[in-house]
Parts: sequence; structure tokens; C-alpha cells
Amino acid sequence: RELPGDPRTDKIPREVLHACYTKVSPSAEVEDPKLVAWSESVANLLDLDPKEFERPDFPLIFSGAAPLVGGLPYAQCYGGHQFGVWAGQLGDGRAITLGELINSRGERWELQLKGAGKTPYSRFADGLAVLRSSIREFLCSEAMNGLGIPTTRALCLVTTGKYVVRDMFYDGNPKDEPGAIVCRVAQSFLRFGSYQIHASRGKEDLDIVRVLADYTIRHHFPHLENLKKSESLSFDAAQGDSPSIDLTSNKYAAWAVEVAERTASLVARWQGVGFTHGVLNTDNMSVLGLTIDYGPFGFLDAFDPSYTPNTTDLPGRRYCFANQPDIGLWNIAQFGTTLSAAKLISKDEANYAMERYGTKFMDEYQYIMTKKLGLTKYNKQLISKLLNNLAVDKVDYTNFFRLLSNIKADPNIPENELLVPLKAVLLDIGKERKEAWISWLQTYIEELVSSGIPDEERKAAMNSVNPKYVLRNYLCQSAIDAAEQGDYEEVRRLLKVMERPYDEQPGMEKYARLPPAWAYRPGVCMLSCSS
Ligand code: AMP
Ligand code: MG
Ligand code: MG
Repeated sequence: RELPGDPRTDKIPREVLHACYTKVSPSAEVEDPKLVAWSESVANLLDLDPKEFERPDFPLIFSGAAPLVGGLPYAQCYGGHQFGVWAGQLGDGRAITLGELINSRGERWELQLKGAGKTPYSRFADGLAVLRSSIREFLCSEAMNGLGIPTTRALCLVTTGKYVVRDMFYDGNPKDEPGAIVCRVAQSFLRFGSYQIHASRGKEDLDIVRVLADYTIRHHFPHLENLKKSESLSFDAAQGDSPSIDLTSNKYAAWAVEVAERTASLVARWQGVGFTHGVLNTDNMSVLGLTIDYGPFGFLDAFDPSYTPNTTDLPGRRYCFANQPDIGLWNIAQFGTTLSAAKLISKDEANYAMERYGTKFMDEYQYIMTKKLGLTKYNKQLISKLLNNLAVDKVDYTNFFRLLSNIKADPNIPENELLVPLKAVLLDIGKERKEAWISWLQTYIEELVSSGIPDEERKAAMNSVNPKYVLRNYLCQSAIDAAEQGDYEEVRRLLKVMERPYDEQPGMEKYARLPPAWAYRPGVCMLSCSS
């Protein structure tokens, strides 16, 4: 029998009660692991010399086959609402934290292997990850960072040299796929579900919610400790709108509000770049407001508010693009319920956090959309007409905004020339739709004229918020196809391109192309959670 509490062997699936984590070491089978790719900027964060990646034992350490000296490996216990239903204990079923390191700037970073073998939280699954989904997580973590959107990071990706059996949904046949492991990096992987699980276990464990909240505030929100009435909080509108809620008298309420605001701001940024997470369960909501857990995510190609990249999300489309703001709020409501069950905040304070989510989301979303259009003030009607037009004509979201910066603030451009700068994205549109676009552009140009910003200046500003390159699912798939044949160059090239998504990159234009026809087959634009 395996001994409970022994980090080398304690991976029996079970309910782990009264604990936030379990000591467990990586145990994925490994045979001649290979380094597929690594991120220079994450290496920088960790003060890692690029030469370290050439060490022969590097793939061994980052596949978990050799220990990270000084590490204290563990798996986290958490629960979550999956698709709106409480699912009980989930936990790190295949993620194992190796330890934390503090860099030369005094920042604390947690290193975690994803796909490193079973833990007590693996339930019915194998604790492993395949190359396909590991490439997606690795690339998208760094692509999001390149876009300037808060996210967990990815240091490196290694193959295990072993095969993993996965049930591919589109033909129903199990398939052997190469195993791989991503090393994820974040200041913390705590999620809403990390607190929820203990509150769900009743009175006895409510104290754990408080202990974990104290830990989180001490390490990750230290500015909220010992708030004095006279001090203002570091986040917006610290004084609050409702006079009855005084955030300086309860650090947990101040924390709940900051989590709500960070989440709102994160979701607003996703909407800005057309990112759909795909699985916004409460166990996938970072308490730091980071994008976390890259599964069946997708960037919009043709604009479609009901787009969900997740086959498990059909037909309800709970997690479709347009629902993300509401889902963020729903998740914040669960977080608030947890904190109030643990008596850390009152019901009013929980409601107040939700209110602040709403305000923050609208402020940020309006700000982002205004900048995307190169305007100086928010114009609700103009934006909603635009989104409607984009949806009707299934226009590519990314390329549309990028090209829009070529429109001149000149009211005298003849009607028949108005659409010329956009012709690469306004494909196959009939006469009636042309008129709709011309009418929208005329109003837009009036706004541009009244803003008074010179064309070149506006173009530069717009290009700094409208990416040229996003990690479209078909681009990921090309890199995956090559990598599964043993060629990792495409993964490395895509990483480089996605690190600078707002820059023109001569020679890399093909990465900004619309998806080819094959991109619409299942498994490319739509994915399952099985990874
Ligand atoms: P996700 O849908 O990726 O957020 O995962 C939900 C839960 O399933 C988490 O507790 C994961 O750790 C767990 N899980 C997902 N894939 C595996 C796997 N291959 N082995 C063990 N646990 C897994
Ligand atoms: Mg998850
Ligand atoms: Mg996942």
C-alpha cells in the first residue's frame, strides 16, 4: 500500500479534507525528454541564464524526472462550479507545483509542471497532458502576455518521450498522442475554487477560508493590510460609491472588491482582443485576475458573439464570447458567497463587490473600444452598429481593426472609395451591405474629424491596441502538426511572432492571414476539454 503523506507515492485519488494542498512529486513516465521551446522573457523573470536551457539535465528537471533542488512539490486542493453546477473537489489533477523562487527584484514566482503525473486530485484521469494541448497552453500564455493581458506564464515545454491515450472527439476513436509537460509560472495559482472548496465543507473548514484569505492578502495584496481610514486604496474609486460600505474597515471586503475589479478588467481586455476562454468555471478563475488554464480557448476570426471554442459548451453556449462579461460576474458572485459564508464579508459587501465589477467592466470596456476605434470619446451607438455590421458580414475581428487605422479623417472621400482600405476584410458583400458599411464609415469619419487627431498619430495609437497577430486556432494547429512530426521550429517561430503582436513584422505577414478552409474542421476551431 502507498503511504499517505509520502510525497513520492501519495497520489491515491481521494477527498482531501481540511487541507489546502498535498505533498506529491512528479511521476509521469519519461523517456529521453526533449526541450521543444522556452520563453526568454519568462527566463528573465526568473533570472535564468539562457545557457541553463542547454544543460543536458534541463529536460529531465522540467519533465519531473529529476528533482528541482530545493523544491517542495505539492498539488493544490480546490473545488469549483463547472458549467454553473457545484462539482465538489477538483484540485490539481495533473499540475504539480515544484516550488517558488524569489528573483533579484524580490518577486515571488511559483513554478508548476502541468502533465507531470497523478495526484490525489486526479479523480478518474491519468494526470498527463498531450503535446497538442501543451503547445496551445505554452503559446497562448506567452501570446496573451505579448498582448499585454494578465496571464499565467509558460517557461518551457518538453516532450516526455512517452505516448498518452486520448479520446479524440471528432471520430470517436482513441488515439495515442505524444506526452508533454509545460512549466507554468505565476505569482500564484490560487483560484476562486481554492476558497470555495473549504466553505463548501461546512462549519469546521470555514476557518481554512480565513487562513487562506490571510495568506493571500499578506503575500499578494499587502497594500490591503492595515488600511487606515485616511489612506486611499491603490485601486480606482477607493472611497466607494455607496456610503454604507467602508472598505478601510474590513480588509476582506477591500480584497473582494479588488478581485472583482481585476476580474472585470481582465474580461474587458479579452473582449477587446476577441479572446474566448472556453471554460470559465470557478476553478479556472485566478484570484489575481490572470488568464488561467488554457484549454479549448479561441480568438475570434469571423466576428460571432455566440462563438464558443468548446464542444462541451454546446448547445448552451454558456461560455461563448458575448457571455464572458456576465459569467465573470456570476463567478464573482460565487466568490462573494464563499467569503460571506466564512463570515469574512457581509452580504452587503459581497453585493458591493459585484456592483464594482459591473462599473469597472463598463469603464474598461468603453475605454478599450474607444481606443480601438482611435476616438477620444466613447460613442455607444457607433460601436454597437459596428459590432452588428461585423456580425452580419462575419468580418475578421482582428484584421478589421488593424485595417481600420488606414481610414483617413477626410469627409470628402467619395463614397465609392470609402471601403477601399477595408477591402481585404469586407469580402463577398452585396450592394445593400455595402451601403450599411458606407453609412457607418461616414459617421465614423465625422467622429474622426471632430477628434482632431492627425491621421498618422491616430494610426500609430490604434496599432498599439489592435494587434496584427493573434494566436488563431489554425496557427496553433499548424505548429502542432509539425511538432507531432518532430519539427519544433514552427512552435518557436509562432512564439517569436506572438511576443510582439502589435508590431509590423516583415516576412511574417502569413501569420496575420485569415484562416484557410481547413481551419473550420472540428478539432481546429472547436475543441473538447480532453487534453
Ligand atoms: P479543466 O477543465 O482543465 O479546468 O480541469 C478540471 C479538472 O480536471 C481539474 O481538477 C484538472 O486538474 C482535472 N484534469 C483535467 N485533465 C486531467 C488529467 N489528464 N488528469 C488528471 N486530472 C485532470
Ligand atoms: Mg482548470
Ligand atoms: Mg485545463
